[in-house]
Amino acid sequence: SPTELSLARVPDEIAPLVGAFNNLLTRVRNAFATQRRFVQDAAHELRTPMAAIGLQIENLRAHVPAGEATERFNQLEAGVTRAQHLIEQLLHLSRQDAPQSVGNARERVDIEVLLRESVSQLMVLADARRVDIGFEGSIAAVVFAPAAELRSVFDNLIDNALRYAPEGGVVDVKLHEVDGHAVVDVLDNGPGIPQAVIGRVFDRFFRVPGAVAGGSGLGLAIARTAAERHGLRIELRNRTGGPGLMARVHLPVLPV
Ligand code: ADP
Repeated sequence: SPTELSLARVPDEIAPLVGAFNNLLTRVRNAFATQRRFVQDAAHELRTPMAAIGLQIENLRAHVPAGEATERFNQLEAGVTRAQHLIEQLLHLSRQDAPQSVGNARERVDIEVLLRESVSQLMVLADARRVDIGFEGSIAAVVFAPAAELRSVFDNLIDNALRYAPEGGVVDVKLHEVDGHAVVDVLDNGPGIPQAVIGRVFDRFFRVPGAVAGGSGLGLAIARTAAERHGLRIELRNRTGGPGLMARVHLPVLPV
């Protein structure tokens, strides 16, 4: 591996040191792999019982007279949905951490098509939150990357915009050119992110204190890992002309 030092090219005195360093490196690498496998196995094992709990709640609901415990059932279902979301994100994250996870083939991806798919798939969430979501594409952009990885970048950003926008709010997704570069902007009119912690929201499990319930703190970490792997860059800015966040994704566009 390129990080390991070669014993062939070092003087005798430091050879033992190099050996020790390489041993340590191997142990650190193994420790990471073990941790990753643990997270992956644990998340995987939680999937089935969680799905079973969801079904049981549904069944119970059908046997209880309407109105009686509706609110409790809603809370239970929301809790299960949250847990399922967290489980899926943990699985996604541990897969991203695996060195061989690049198995996902690169292809020419039309960003407008991809964004339209993402927006239409998240329409259910938008409707549930009565948030108005719009898409506008004023340029053509093609990126060479695995489509699924690109989807995870935009799905996470749009999902956040929809969850942090107020009920009845507005989310806009725009593919356009800024200063001669292709970018995707995801705009919402929610509370934005306090300037003091805006650099930390990409950290795993970091959540702004008091952020709306339902999140895991993993979405942006997943989005950033996928973005960086394929030459995209995500920039977060509080909007200047009013409340809300702008997530801007700079695209490495292929010449068309
Ligand atoms: P979560 O699942 O908690 O939303 P993320 O990693 O996606 O996790 O985001 C991390 C934190 O960044 C969130 O808990 C929230 O505090 C903040 N955040 C992300 N997107 C937005 C947004 N569009 N508006 C306001 N705050 C946001």
